[in-house]
Amino acid sequence: MGSVQYYAPQSLEEAVPLLKEAREIPSRILAGGTDLLVQMRAGVRTPERLIDIKKIPETTGFEIGVDEIRLGAAVPSAVIDESPELHQQLPGVVEGMELIGSTQVQGRATPGGNLCNSSPAGDGVPAMISAGGQCVIFGANGSRTIPVEEVCTAPGLTSLAEDEFIQEFRFPAPKPGQADAYLRFTPRNEMDIAVVGVAANITLDASGTCIAAKIVLGAIAPTTVIATEVAELLVGTKLDEATLAKAGEVASGLGKPISDKRGTAEFRHRIAGVLTRRVIKIAATRAGERL
Ligand SMILES: Cc1cc2nc3c(=O)[nH]c(=O)nc-3n(C[C@H](O)[C@H](O)[C@H](O)COP(=O)(O)OP(=O)(O)OC[C@H]3O[C@@H](n4cnc5c(N)ncnc54)[C@H](O)[C@@H]3O)c2cc1C
Repeated sequence: MGSVQYYAPQSLEEAVPLLKEAREIPSRILAGGTDLLVQMRAGVRTPERLIDIKKIPETTGFEIGVDEIRLGAAVPSAVIDESPELHQQLPGVVEGMELIGSTQVQGRATPGGNLCNSSPAGDGVPAMISAGGQCVIFGANGSRTIPVEEVCTAPGLTSLAEDEFIQEFRFPAPKPGQADAYLRFTPRNEMDIAVVGVAANITLDASGTCIAAKIVLGAIAPTTVIATEVAELLVGTKLDEATLAKAGEVASGLGKPISDKRGTAEFRHRIAGVLTRRVIKIAATRAGERL
């Protein structure tokens, strides 16, 4: 790893000149560094400049509002996991972030880094999408907001310009009868990436009928898959066993998973079905408790 310039702006305003210079000088945003520093050591990423965003207050806090939950892009996974309010409001988003790596990695790993690393197996991503997350993107020319699902375009690539970074995520506060969940399968209990990961966000009415659903699968394609065909067959049902079995069957046919040392494509297809059934049940049970 050669020499690299390091900057840590203390505010969004202070970041602007650095972002402008990033149009000419190859730069990378640094959050926890648990992906980026490993990639730099391996020579996969070779930025000349790092822009550390962790000193910018807007990126490091979170706020639970009545209508909206704001989560800074550089809040470490450990801090997310320690918040009873975030567990209560967005249990699936917390589940996605809390199982990243080890205790040490969780002290550094952030949701912005998990998303912008753009791994097909990023554990934080499916639940942020199923919870209806939006990214507030700060750039040299101002701010814009896009849905989380519009960030990753291919493994390792995002739709962000070189003079932009994600400042924070915004999620609609769950309504009564609405809850989420995330499940992944790994060959080991921890310190391994998802063979498949599935997030579900389910809304029930007072009679227990599903009135809205968003199911998102990770690690079965180059980017996350929003399973609208699964969601459609859940709506209007009471999520009985036959419906869940059908949901699993449809989910197991989605995507174009790879075969690697963690499992074959066929295995990933099967696991996608099993996890989809299970995660819908968990989200639905939580949703029922919030009626
Ligand atoms: C031992 C180990 C175990 C791991 N286990 C898991 C696991 O189980 N599941 C999993 O999903 N991941 C795992 N990871 C990968 C990694 O920890 C996560 O992806 C983590 O969330 C990355 O966050 P970070 O803040 O460290 O990102 P960084 O390394 O700081 O950044 C990652 C990328 O995103 C960019 N970036 C960061 N923040 C922003 C932002 N706000 N706006 C724009 N671009 C940004 C950076 O420029 C870089 O390209 C593991 C890593 C290690 C080393």
